[in-house]
Amino acid sequence: MKRLERVLELEKQQGYQNKAVVGGIRQFAVFWVTQAREEAVDEADLGLAEQVSDVLMEYNRLSGAEARARAIDSLLAGIQRRRARHLEAPPVPAAPPAKPTPPPAAKPTPPPAAKPAPPPPAKATLPPVAPVEPAPARPPVTATVEAAAEPELEEVEEEAAPPLPEVDEAHEPDRPPLEPDPRGLAQRVTMLKGVGPKIAEKLERLGASTIWELLHLFPRRYDDYTLLRPISKLRYGEQVTVIGTIWQTRSRRTRTNQPIIECIVNDGTGTVQATWFNQPWLLDQLPAGMQIVLSGKVEMYLGRLLFNSPEWEPVELEPLRTRRIVPIYPLTEGLNAAKMREIMQRTVKEWAPRAPDPLPAPIRKRRELYSLPFALQQMHFPDSQEAMRRARQRLAFDELFLLQLGVQRQRRDWLAHPGLPLAISDEQYAAFTDALPYQLTAAQQRVVEEIRADLAQSRPMNRLLQGDVGSGKTVVAAAAMVAAAWAGAQAALMAPTEILAEQHYRGLRRLLEPLGLRVALLTGNTPAAERPPILAGLADGSIHIAIGTHALIQPAVTFKQLGMAIVDEQHRFGVDQRAALREKGPRAGEDAISPHLLIMSATPIPRTLALSLYGDLDLSVLDEMPPGRQEIKTRWLRASERERAYSFVRRQTAEGRQAYIIYPLVEESDTIDARAAVEEFGRLSTQVFPDRRLGLVHGRLRSDDKESAMRAFAGHETDVLVATSVIEVGVDVPNSTVIVIEGADRFGLAQLHQFRGRVGRGEHQSYCILIAEDVSNEAEQRLAALEATNDGFVLAERDLELRGPGEFFGRRQSGLPELRLASLLHDVAVLKMAQEEAAALFAADPQLEQPEHRLLRQRLDAFWAEAADPS
Ligand code: ADP
Ligand code: MG
Repeated sequence: MKRLERVLELEKQQGYQNKAVVGGIRQFAVFWVTQAREEAVDEADLGLAEQVSDVLMEYNRLSGAEARARAIDSLLAGIQRRRARHLEAPPVPAAPPAKPTPPPAAKPTPPPAAKPAPPPPAKATLPPVAPVEPAPARPPVTATVEAAAEPELEEVEEEAAPPLPEVDEAHEPDRPPLEPDPRGLAQRVTMLKGVGPKIAEKLERLGASTIWELLHLFPRRYDDYTLLRPISKLRYGEQVTVIGTIWQTRSRRTRTNQPIIECIVNDGTGTVQATWFNQPWLLDQLPAGMQIVLSGKVEMYLGRLLFNSPEWEPVELEPLRTRRIVPIYPLTEGLNAAKMREIMQRTVKEWAPRAPDPLPAPIRKRRELYSLPFALQQMHFPDSQEAMRRARQRLAFDELFLLQLGVQRQRRDWLAHPGLPLAISDEQYAAFTDALPYQLTAAQQRVVEEIRADLAQSRPMNRLLQGDVGSGKTVVAAAAMVAAAWAGAQAALMAPTEILAEQHYRGLRRLLEPLGLRVALLTGNTPAAERPPILAGLADGSIHIAIGTHALIQPAVTFKQLGMAIVDEQHRFGVDQRAALREKGPRAGEDAISPHLLIMSATPIPRTLALSLYGDLDLSVLDEMPPGRQEIKTRWLRASERERAYSFVRRQTAEGRQAYIIYPLVEESDTIDARAAVEEFGRLSTQVFPDRRLGLVHGRLRSDDKESAMRAFAGHETDVLVATSVIEVGVDVPNSTVIVIEGADRFGLAQLHQFRGRVGRGEHQSYCILIAEDVSNEAEQRLAALEATNDGFVLAERDLELRGPGEFFGRRQSGLPELRLASLLHDVAVLKMAQEEAAALFAADPQLEQPEHRLLRQRLDAFWAEAADPS
C-alpha cells in the first residue's frame, strides 16, 4: 500500500509521465493488484484493489496530464480513506528516493497480548473499539520507488510475498462485547431464527440441543479459500478464490439430459469458466455483469483451467462460503452444508459474544489466550490459520485445565486428611509370600515394597499401579490388603464388573482365608438374605477384606476401620465414587481419615504421559511378566475365513484346552451385544460345535446365571465360552488358550489387547484370532500391530499414533472426561500450562470459592459429572 502510494506520489511529482516506475505504471499495477488481492484483509481493501486495477490498467492510454492527474488523485484519495480505516502510519515522504529505505531496526515484535493501552471502558451496551495494533514488523519493502532504477518485476514479486497480512488479523476485543447470558445459551436451539422443530431434531442428532451445545459443535475441518488469485495466475489443483465480473451465463444439457450451468467470469487479468450441475436455477441467480466471488479447487478440462461446482457469493455479501477459511461441519441427512453454515453464522454472531468465560482473567492474560467468546467465534469462522490455531488452543486449554483441576482436586481431597499408618514386619510379610503358589517377579516385589512404604506413612497413599494384562496386578493387591489387615485395618477391593468381582473373590478367598483373614463379596446382586451378616461383619470389623463392585460404596455400607481401598481396572470410577469411597474411611467430618488408595490399571499409558496427566500422582509400573509366559500367537482373518477359526477351536478343545468366542459390538449397548451373542450361541452350539460344551455370558444375564456360567468355564465344565465384552477385563482362566474376536476391525488396539489378555495365562501356547468384517486401511494397520507384538506399552504408543489420544483416552477406557479438542499427545505444551495454572489456582483458592472462580467451579463440576455418568 505504501509502495503504491509512493509510486503515485512520485508519478505526480514527475508530472504524470508514466515514468515513476520503469516498465510503466501499468505493469506495476498488474503486479501490485495481484499482491493486493492476495493480501486484502477486508472487502474495502479488495474494492480498492479493483479500483487501482481499473484505473491503472488504462493509465498509459490516458492522454493528457489532466486525465492522468484525476486518475492518480482518485487513487490517492482511496488510499487515504483506507488509512483512516486502518489508522495506518503515514508513508515515508516520497521524494527524492535517494537511498534504499533502510530496513527497520530488528526490534522484537511485541507478543500479540502485549497490547497498547486498552480502550477506555465502554458502556456495557456499546461494543468497545477494538484496540488497533501496530502493524507487525514485516520484511522491508525495498523495491518501492527504487524500482525506478531496477524494475525487475520477477524479483519484486518474490520479495513482496511475505505471508503476513499488513494488519494483524486477530483483533480480539479486550472485553466481551455483550453481557454473558448463560440462561440464554441454555435455551433450546428452536429459539434460534430459522431453526424449527425439524432442523432442531437434526441438530440434536449431531449432539446439539441447546444453543450452548450448538456453539460447541465444531467444524470437522476447514476449506481455506483465503488465497486470492488473479485469474491469469490460476494454477491447477490450487484451492483459491477469484473475484470478477460475470460475462456470460448459459445453460445446456448433458447427453443424459442433466442441466449444466456454465458461467464465464473475468477479473481484468483473464477469464475462467465455472460449471455447476443440476442447479438450473443458477441461470437466473448469476446474471451477466454481476460481481461474483468464486472459491474452489482449480480443475482442468481439455487443457483449460476451470472450476467445477465452486462455492460462490455475490461480492457485496459478507463472506461465508468464499474468500475465507470456510468451516465444514458434520452433517446429517436433511441438513446440508449451506443451511448448517447459515445457522452457525447466525448463532455464532449472536451468541458467542454472550458466552460466559470461566477462565480467570489473570490466567488468560498470562497465557495469552483468547477469550471464550472470541475463541468460539474464531473456531467456527476463523479469520486466518493463526487465529484458528489460537482458538483451538484456547478451547483445548479449557479441557486440559478442567482435567487438571479435577485430578489435582482429587489428589488434594485425598491428601487433605491423614491416613492410618499401617505397617507389618518383614516376617509377617514373608508369611504371605510363603503361602503363594509361585515366587513374585522382581517387578511385583518392587511394587509391593513401594506400597508397603506408603502404607507405613500417616499420609494417605495415592498410587496408580500400571501393568499390562497378565502382569500379575491381583497378587500385588492381595499383598497390600494383607498388610492392611494384619496391621489392624480393613481393606476393600472394588472391581468394575460383577464377573470380575466374583473372580477376585474366588481367587483371593482361596489365598487369604488360610492366612486367617475373613473375605466377603458384596455386589448389587448379593441376595438380600446374605447382606445383613456381611454388612454387620464390615461394621464390626470381623470381616477383614471386602471385595465387590460399586455396591461397596453404597450408603448402607460402613466399615469399622477401612484403611486401604483398591480400585481395579480404574476406568468407570468417577469423582463421586472416589469421594464416596473416601467417606468410608475411619471417622467422618473434620478429623476424618483417608484410606490409602491404590488404583490399578491395565491401560498402559506411556509413562511420560501418565506423569504429565496425573501430575505428581505416585506411579508404580509392573514392567515384567510372570515367568513362563508365552507369546500369544495372533492372526487376523477375514470374515470369509471364519471356518478356519472354528476348526482351530475344535482342535484345541479336543486337546483339552478351552476357548472364548467374543461378540462385542461397537455401541456400548448391552442389549444389542447380548442379542448378537445369544443368536450366535444358538448357531454355534447346534451347527458349529454340536459335540462341545458351550457356555454363554452377557451383560443381560441375571447375575447368578452369569456367575454360574463363569464358574462352569473356570471349572472346565464347558469348553467354549461365548461372550460379549463383559469379559473384557480381568477374567482369568488359565486353561483357555484360544480367543476368537468377532468384528475385530471395529475396536481399538487397547481394547483388543485387553481381550487377548484373557488367554496366555497358563503354561500352554495360546492364540488370538481376530475376525474382521470390513478392513479399512487403518483397521488393517491395527490388526497388523496386534499380530506383531504382545507388548501393551508398544501397542499403546501405536494406538495413540493411529487413533489419536481422543479415542485412546476415551472416557470408557480411562474414567477421564472426554476430550473433544485437546490431545494429550500433541498438546503437551498446553497440558503443561494447564497443569501449572491448576496448581497455582488451588494454591490461591483451594476450594475455588472466590466469586471470580464461581463460574469455573461450576464448569469443573459439570465437566467431571459428565465423565462419571456418560450417557
Ligand atoms: P492382571 O495384571 O492382568 O490383573 P492377574 O493378576 O490376573 O493379571 O495375573 C495373571 C495370571 O498370572 C494369574 O493367573 C496369576 O495367578 C498369575 N501370576 C501372577 N503373578 C505371578 C508370578 N509371579 N508367577 C507366576 N504366575 C503369576
Ligand atoms: Mg486384573
